[in-house]
Amino acid sequence: MVPEPRSLQLTVGHVHDLTPRMREISLVVPAPGQFAYLPGQDVSLGFTALDGTAVRRRYSIRRFSSERGLLDIDVVMHGDGPGMRWAQNVSEGMPIEAIAPRGKITLAEGAAWHLFAGDATAVPAAFAMMEAVPEGMPAFGFFLVDDANERQLLEANGNRRTIQWRYQSVEADPGAALAAAIGGTSLPPTAGQAYLAGEVGLVSALKAGLLLRGWTGDRIAAKAYWNRGRANAGHGEPEQKAS
Ligand SMILES: Cc1cc2nc3c(=O)[nH]c(=O)nc-3n(C[C@H](O)[C@H](O)[C@H](O)COP(=O)(O)OP(=O)(O)OC[C@H]3O[C@@H](n4cnc5c(N)ncnc54)[C@H](O)[C@@H]3O)c2cc1C
Repeated sequence: MVPEPRSLQLTVGHVHDLTPRMREISLVVPAPGQFAYLPGQDVSLGFTALDGTAVRRRYSIRRFSSERGLLDIDVVMHGDGPGMRWAQNVSEGMPIEAIAPRGKITLAEGAAWHLFAGDATAVPAAFAMMEAVPEGMPAFGFFLVDDANERQLLEANGNRRTIQWRYQSVEADPGAALAAAIGGTSLPPTAGQAYLAGEVGLVSALKAGLLLRGWTGDRIAAKAYWNRGRANAGHGEPEQKAS
């Protein structure tokens, strides 16, 4: 059962850059013993846009420690927007209003193995879920990031985790390069589950690629996280959904 969302008053803990373009922000959770979530879920944060309107932006829960009372999110540092301005200027002790946990895409029960693909915004949820895949069960990750400096290490604890990175800066058609990486990988013949996330065009292209390879729609969880050149709506979702 997916835990229900509730309102939380969080406080910023420590902030550090994982890569040149990925900032990890730890948020202090009040009464952490009462907070429950499933890997793959996210937190919806409340911001004020430049015109004074209240908007929300969603960030995947990279990890949560009830002992430390800390919930970590990893934010892709891109250009502008209410979420971006907050992440650029965030500092320890700042309060932030949240609704969490949000989201229904979590590890599918019954799948024999798991495939994760998307852009840099997909990495936090994918890594959280890959860490939760049972020991011995294969999990594959295919991620499109700016360049090799954006790669991150997944603590696999000896488990069967295979990650391939493709770089936006060197590929003529980055989305096609990521789809080709998936197509060129020898995947188990048993029934797997795919999780696709990121920019709407990329997610739609990756889904189309999997369908062409014989995947059925019920084995693909596809979620658009953002639209290129267009701000997300006030509730945090991109206006355009993945097809
Ligand atoms: C369920 C869910 C989980 C998500 N998890 C994460 C996460 O863990 N980490 C994370 O970084 N993002 C995550 N996102 C995506 C994030 O919410 C969006 O990128 C959001 O648009 C950022 O808000 P903003 O205020 O910075 O920019 P907006 O005001 O929405 O957009 C301003 C401009 O920035 C552009 N833009 C937005 N995002 C990006 C980007 N990543 N790269 C380049 N240009 C961009 C837009 O096209 C627009 O032109 C998630 C989204 C959803 C729905």
